[in-house]
Amino acid sequence: MPITPTKKIWMDGEFVDWDDATVHVLSHTLHYGMGAFEGIRAYKTPNGVAIFRLKDHMERLLRSCRILMMDVPYSLKELCETAKELVRVNELHDGCYLRPIVYLGYGEIGVNPIGAPVQTAIAAWPWGAYLGEHAEKGVRMKISSWSRHHPNAMPTASKTIGGYVNASLAKVEAVKAGYDEAIMLGPDGRVSECTGENLFIVKDGVILSPPPSEAGALRGITQASIVKIAADLGYVVSFEAMRRDDLYLADEAFLTGTAAEVVPISSVDDRLVGDGNPGPITTEIKTTYHQAIRGERPQYEEWLARV
Ligand code: PMP
Repeated sequence: MPITPTKKIWMDGEFVDWDDATVHVLSHTLHYGMGAFEGIRAYKTPNGVAIFRLKDHMERLLRSCRILMMDVPYSLKELCETAKELVRVNELHDGCYLRPIVYLGYGEIGVNPIGAPVQTAIAAWPWGAYLGEHAEKGVRMKISSWSRHHPNAMPTASKTIGGYVNASLAKVEAVKAGYDEAIMLGPDGRVSECTGENLFIVKDGVILSPPPSEAGALRGITQASIVKIAADLGYVVSFEAMRRDDLYLADEAFLTGTAAEVVPISSVDDRLVGDGNPGPITTEIKTTYHQAIRGERPQYEEWLARV
């Protein structure tokens, strides 16, 4: 998706002009993929712009870096304050997407990353519907021929930069075959997640999602928000291992992610989910989530970091 430039990007402690936010071609991460990133959204609310679950995202960034043994030279508080300042500096009053990234810069080459400088940046820009405007009506999913990483091959609890080669291969395969998004199975054949979203199904009124750790899926912050919202709405929610058959037989299905938000699934491998239209439980959950992120549900106010 194209990027809409804003004024400033924060790099290693300074707000630099958008066009000057560059790195050296021999930066370590560019060659070996070591590093981690986050995707965060901010929304316009009745009380001004607010970043959704900012602390949870920055905590996950630090957890990712801990797994990768990268020492981030900023505290959780500093990262959160910087993100808010960036939104203010760029005057993103209508909301935006934020992309923090921790990477290894110029100074060492070779697979051994020890000694390469750990660098940190955050960019923010306005970003529309990740899976396109038509996603409202439901997206067409294809089970990928690519397996999700085995956790002993790539740490799946870390949002590792290099790990997204796997996601990109699956995404390209699905899009070129005429689908919107891919569903990835783990090496054991169980359903894991999508290329940038977690997955839920509804069966006989119960809401199910693959257990993140067991399924080798990222522990989604939207997924956690949906679990809370669904429980508050009175639904039974359970993390359960599932196979592709469970997807084909689901009454409803939807995916969740910061960029995508909550998106109904209309079909999986050309088999309609329900009648192919967004189901009632999906719609109720999606509506509540959209109200929560925009500050229209006081009970979820603690998720909003006012800028
Ligand atoms: N899985 C993967 C592989 C992702 O990249 C993302 C996006 N961060 C998600 C799931 C959803 O996570 P979240 O809801 O925290 O954005």
